[in-house]
Amino acid sequence: MTEKKLYTCDICKTDYADKEKAKQCEKNHKLLEKATIVGDYKSMGSIPIGEPIKIRVKFPNTDKWIEYKR
Ligand SMILES: [Zn+2]
Repeated sequence: MTEKKLYTCDICKTDYADKEKAKQCEKNHKLLEKATIVGDYKSMGSIPIGEPIKIRVKFPNTDKWIEYKR
């Protein structure tokens, strides 16, 4: 019987047989904690719950804004 060891990326939960690949996967993820996040909002009349309708995110060392919609 062969026992196999896996390494799991803590961010995306992907399993890797190679520890270095799991480390690289974790390092590759751009974390929201380090990003600038700007929300687009509507009036109280159209969105009474007050949540943004769109969110724009910019990660460090980049000029690109990425837009997320629900
Ligand atoms: Zn990952």
